[in-house]
Amino acid sequence: MDWNEMQVQQPTVMNMLKRSIEKDRLAHAYIFEGMRGAGKKAVAMLMAQSLYCPYKQDAAPCGSCSECRRVEHGNHPDVMLLEPEGASIKKAQVEALQKELTYKGMETEVKIYIVNDADKMTASAANSLLKFLEEPESPTLALLLTENVHFMLDTIISRSQKISFAPPELERRIEMFEAQGSSKTAAALLAKLPDDVGGNYTGENSDWIVQGRALVIQLVEEVHHRPQQMLLTLQEKWLTHFKDREELDIGLDLLLFWYRDLLTVKYGQQNLAYPDLTERLEQQVILMSETEVAKRLQLILDAKRRLRANVNAQLLMEHLLLRLQEGS
Ligand SMILES: [Zn+2]
Repeated sequence: MDWNEMQVQQPTVMNMLKRSIEKDRLAHAYIFEGMRGAGKKAVAMLMAQSLYCPYKQDAAPCGSCSECRRVEHGNHPDVMLLEPEGASIKKAQVEALQKELTYKGMETEVKIYIVNDADKMTASAANSLLKFLEEPESPTLALLLTENVHFMLDTIISRSQKISFAPPELERRIEMFEAQGSSKTAAALLAKLPDDVGGNYTGENSDWIVQGRALVIQLVEEVHHRPQQMLLTLQEKWLTHFKDREELDIGLDLLLFWYRDLLTVKYGQQNLAYPDLTERLEQQVILMSETEVAKRLQLILDAKRRLRANVNAQLLMEHLLLRLQEGS
């Protein structure tokens, strides 16, 4: 990822940081908040390169000198990266970081630490971090990266400058999921799911999404062409795959994407959730008017809402399938 590429993807963020670097007016702590794939970590690395690169032009680092390469490869002694170990970032990790930061004899004046998924700090880790956000012993630049800024301590937010990243374009999100080992078909769906959901089903875990996808395709086919089978499929396959409320919600999303695709196909737009099934979508959309598709979208959204009210999953789905079939 180079500077110019990020400049294209996140112009507001990059212009702001560029000005601050050029005028030597960086804050001591930044919160980079935005969706997965928005480039938060890449920008953090570019900032580190910019601060250490002897060959930078304006604020843009050269990207190829030894300083730039050390930052890129994660072995620059003055750039520290903190990430969750397991589900959270623990106090001991923050303390170890603090120790490193106060260790003298480093190569540069400013030390940088990047905390990835900063909202995953435990309460005691966050409080520990807060202490040296308030009184760093030596010049430091903190870059706190998060997809869920509302989970972070107010006291940390108020001591940092918050920078919001624009959501990444859909194509880029698809590429990102593919780079993480998901198939093309899984990536097209994951990219459309909410961030905190899609992120759990990447790489090897994306098989579950692929199987769920096959079930959606089967069920929709049955709803519209072989309704006598749909309740059996629901019972034997759907409910055993989408087992709890969380999973069922994803199942409903996948179903929702199918009907959205029908509208998309009608208008010849891009970015389908089921891009390999254009033909089947086209065949199905002939049978329904735009209003009829919209009605079904509404039915699925209603089901998603009712799901939150702790209703019985089987009854909810039976009711939904019958109404999808009738279209009313
Ligand atoms: Zn350089």
